[in-house]
Amino acid sequence: MRRIYLDHSATTPVDPQVAELMMKYYVEFYGNPSSVHLYGREVRKALDEARTQVATLIGADQAEITFTSGGTEADNIAIQGAAKSRAKKGKHLITSAIEHHAVLDTCKYLAKNGYDLTILPVDEEGLVSVDELKKAIRPDTILVSIMHANNEVGSIQPIEEIGKITKELDILFHVDAVQSLGKCPIDVKAMNIDLLTISSHKIYGPKGVGALYIRKGVRISPLMFGGAQERKIRSGTENAPGIIGFGKACELSGQRMKSEIPYLTGLRDKLIDGIMSRIDNVKLNGPRGQKRLSNNVNVSINFIEGESLLLSLDMIGVAASSGSACTSGSLDPSHVLLAMGMSHEVAHGSLRLSLGKQNTDEDIEFVLEELPKIVDRLRVMSPLYNKTSC
Ligand SMILES: *Cc1c(COP(=O)(O)O)cnc(C)c1O
Repeated sequence: MRRIYLDHSATTPVDPQVAELMMKYYVEFYGNPSSVHLYGREVRKALDEARTQVATLIGADQAEITFTSGGTEADNIAIQGAAKSRAKKGKHLITSAIEHHAVLDTCKYLAKNGYDLTILPVDEEGLVSVDELKKAIRPDTILVSIMHANNEVGSIQPIEEIGKITKELDILFHVDAVQSLGKCPIDVKAMNIDLLTISSHKIYGPKGVGALYIRKGVRISPLMFGGAQERKIRSGTENAPGIIGFGKACELSGQRMKSEIPYLTGLRDKLIDGIMSRIDNVKLNGPRGQKRLSNNVNVSINFIEGESLLLSLDMIGVAASSGSACTSGSLDPSHVLLAMGMSHEVAHGSLRLSLGKQNTDEDIEFVLEELPKIVDRLRVMSPLYNKTSC
């Protein structure tokens, strides 16, 4: 059977070049980078190189990169670490309603433990308003955490504008850039970002590795204590093969970016236009054009359940998602779609197709051929659809 993977926002395959390099650091160069002997030194050197590769992709200095076990951990260190270190200055945090749970739930945890939290709303395209943000800022605001690109609907937030405001008011600015890394240019300096979260497995690197950019001079408290690795922010023997693989994935991503963005954008728009013209009662979730992530398609197909749509697609070899990977599998509607003003019913019928570098024009044509048939079949069985049509 033909297999088409359209779930790259959940995870990506490891690039063979990355896997090959990693293998060497499992079996041949296995020293502990903290050791002084040659075994340790050769790994330390490779870690330094990886740090430079990661830093280069986001316009940072290598000393500003702290490796973590992934995006979730980087989000937690950034938010809890900043909240703790700045608690004397104030206890007010600002985030948005469409953040990844790693951000949203961390903020909510702090709100239950003595901090004040403002959750900014978004408009129907999933965009945060800079004016609303300005209005939410108080004298005791210590941290603003807004994601760069949304993982469900692909909306790209006005990060540079927000960075100007937080810089002027000396408020720490954290950005979850897990989805935008390699798909949007990121320059932490030009964007005035203090803390930036990235993850390896969304850019063709291994799972279980990520990084937190911490701007030089910004102090945050660690969550874990131990051997003082990663400038005491993240103790524990480094996942050297993973980090080295992540570094390589960043280098490759940087090289591909110029051609990959227009390539994915072309496939994305073909898929969006095809779905909109071939299926009735469909709504595109998220913005069109430049404000949308190059690889994201998210539609609500009325009168059917997202879950049954996913199962039908799976049966013909197409891997997709409804909302985010963490919420699909449960029957809770996506908090992102609800925040965009969608009803529970419509939010349940949403389908996310996220593209990757291996997808082709033929993949898109196959989906555009099969999806309308599946929708017709499911709608015939849907009590919702029948009621409205008679
Ligand atoms: C995937 C993702 C994360 C979590 O990263 P992990 O490395 O899987 O822990 C955080 N934020 C966003 C926006 C993501 O898409």
